[in-house]
Amino acid sequence: MVLGELGSRISGAIQRLNTATVIDDKALTICVNEITHALLQADVQFKLVQALSSNVRKSVEKLAAGHDKRHIIQKAVFHELRAMLDAGKPSFTPTKGRTNVVMLVGLQGCGKTTTCTKYALHYRKKGFNPALVCADTFRAGAFDQLKQNATKVKIPFYGSYTETDPVVIAQEGVRKFADAKHDLIILDTSGRHKQENALFEEMRQLAAATNPDLIIFVMDSSIGQAANDQALAFRESAKVGAVIITKIDGHAKGGGALSAVAATKSPIIFLGTGEKADAFETFESKAFVSRLLG
Ligand code: GDP
Repeated sequence: MVLGELGSRISGAIQRLNTATVIDDKALTICVNEITHALLQADVQFKLVQALSSNVRKSVEKLAAGHDKRHIIQKAVFHELRAMLDAGKPSFTPTKGRTNVVMLVGLQGCGKTTTCTKYALHYRKKGFNPALVCADTFRAGAFDQLKQNATKVKIPFYGSYTETDPVVIAQEGVRKFADAKHDLIILDTSGRHKQENALFEEMRQLAAATNPDLIIFVMDSSIGQAANDQALAFRESAKVGAVIITKIDGHAKGGGALSAVAATKSPIIFLGTGEKADAFETFESKAFVSRLLG
């Protein structure tokens, strides 16, 4: 089920309330169950779905006759989904007049390297002078990819073909660009195909060596129910302060995004909407939930 499908199933469930002569407990249960199933199929975590359905129920149960229950249920679902996306605190955002260091972490293939350039371009448009550092020595070709992306959009970059220690590269890159008065230094880190201790240890070392202002967890939106565990694992090894969800242009179901916020207790700041460097949107929870609901 892709993003809009969830919406049509939820609105379908609410529409069916229409056909019930009275919206009694039975009709409400059927409706809430349908919504629950739709959310679970969209990869929203079970625990979150349970909380949502119980809150939606509460919002209508005590209503006297005469209220438009359909409308209230719809509003309650919207409200609950938005609340799930609210991390309760804003993310760090780069400020001018100082060196901002931002480190991106995530599994291999999640879109980290692509996102580094997108993030840099976003802030260049706002008047920043960004630079990229490739601290990924694990994947052959990682530096070439970053170099190619950065060259295309004329953003300075740093990396090495010979140094095998990512910490050394990260420190040198950050020092070099800080000396050159770049106000936004973006650190691309390595990934692995799966969650491995070696990866998390590397993230810990990189963070300790470069002391980033912000660590962004980059997550592929198509990973589904695995989102929760993955986000938790990254949060344990790195002080994640924000989330970027990639590939929402694909077959994303969207539910993983909710899990990532819940697990990292960090806000989503951007969405990756395609392979091109400008396929990047500032995250807005209202628009996202509307999209999720079709
Ligand atoms: P990394 O291993 O995490 O650095 O991932 P890459 O940046 O190399 O991206 C892996 C693949 O995903 C590449 O083919 C990218 O072009 C693609 N990709 C990254 N972000 C997006 C996105 O938002 N949408 C789509 N459709 N593809 C993306």
